[in-house]
Amino acid sequence: MFTINENYLKLPGSYLFSTIAKKVSAYQEENPEVEIIRLGIGDVTQPLCPAVIGALHRAVDEMGQQETFRGYGPENGYAFLREAMVRTDYAARGCDIRPDEIFISDGAKSDSGNIQEIFGLSNTVAVCDPVYPVYLDTNVMAGRTGEYNREKAGFDGVLYLPCSEENGFAPQIPEDGTCDLIYLCSPNNPTGAVLTKPQLQAWVDYANRNGAVIIFDAAYEAYITQPGVPHSIYECEGARTCAIELRSFSKNAGFTGLRLGAAVVPADLTRTVTYTSPETGETITEAVPLQRLWTRRHGTKFNGAPYIVQRAGEAVYSPEGQEQTRAQVAYYMRNAAYIRTHLADAGFTVYGGENAPYIWLRTPGEMTSWEFFDRLLTEAGVVGTPGSGFGPHGEHFFRLTAFGTYENTVAAVERMIQWKNQTGSGDSHEDK
Ligand SMILES: *Cc1c(COP(=O)(O)O)cnc(C)c1O
Repeated sequence: MFTINENYLKLPGSYLFSTIAKKVSAYQEENPEVEIIRLGIGDVTQPLCPAVIGALHRAVDEMGQQETFRGYGPENGYAFLREAMVRTDYAARGCDIRPDEIFISDGAKSDSGNIQEIFGLSNTVAVCDPVYPVYLDTNVMAGRTGEYNREKAGFDGVLYLPCSEENGFAPQIPEDGTCDLIYLCSPNNPTGAVLTKPQLQAWVDYANRNGAVIIFDAAYEAYITQPGVPHSIYECEGARTCAIELRSFSKNAGFTGLRLGAAVVPADLTRTVTYTSPETGETITEAVPLQRLWTRRHGTKFNGAPYIVQRAGEAVYSPEGQEQTRAQVAYYMRNAAYIRTHLADAGFTVYGGENAPYIWLRTPGEMTSWEFFDRLLTEAGVVGTPGSGFGPHGEHFFRLTAFGTYENTVAAVERMIQWKNQTGSGDSHEDK
């Protein structure tokens, strides 16, 4: 009898951003004269830089010439890109990563969703709360969790790591030692917080002690401004035996529409398994490199990122590309600083925005995230993202992004301050 994957039915409906879009368009329809400013969805707005555009044009021309046309590329991505990544992202930071440990993909969302395929279904998953929803939802789809528990607004069988004001939004190491697969994201979406080197090292040590594997999402590493904050988990000692790192070109170089990313799976990351050889029928006990599984998965289900896009990615690492993409990041970080400082001066409680393009704002008074969303939309014409959409510990928080234009950012902040002054909205968190 035919069946469907009923794990999909465990997922509560109504995706956060579609709810926001519906509310915004309903309000706009009734109030066509209001110019709404969106500091909501985490998408970039600056166009691709000249170094990237130049590389794209050149690669397109190559594809039109008999001598330089390219068909299917190497399974793990072109060496020119993997070598450029090793030089700039790893060797320059003292990280021991080789080109053959890098797997080029079409982005970190696919990788963060697909990577769970190579792990057993009995693993206990640990995610931060609040969290980027992809890590958890893809594990639910795979059947690695229990049912959705409405009372606790979370899934049974998942270890949630609360990230709150009390712990500085840093996930704490579980004391009972019962998680196998740990998702970490630093700088963090949505909280904008970063893990310090000692905090990340403690997770690496924990994973190595317990045989757990860490999936480290480094999508926002380019936004780190403070010295001493790790840009890669491989800056930590022992990470090669416990960590997979995900990289993206979306936020550091504006590739959200172009699509490019990479997963790093070190050769030293192995787990000992006893299994039956499909070739000989023999029972084998060996340390299986996870890289072997990811290579197989990649080769079977993915035919590579486009050649022209990989050339564009290579251009990000050229001297001009580095300068131009750094200028884009600086542009967004100027917005972040503007939001953070002006809202704090006006009496809002704000976090993040120093090493990340996200500001994590405590809702005034005892307003819920959605109450604050509705009031900000209808009374100030500003759209952000309710923190509760990222998990129960996101309740009473609100995410603002620095990805808008400077002009819109300034205008949105002015409206929020005016709204606060007019409504006298609660300053009950001044003590924090
Ligand atoms: C935006 C984002 C990514 C990047 O996704 P791409 O598929 O590379 O565009 C990855 N992780 C997090 C947490 C993000 O916010």
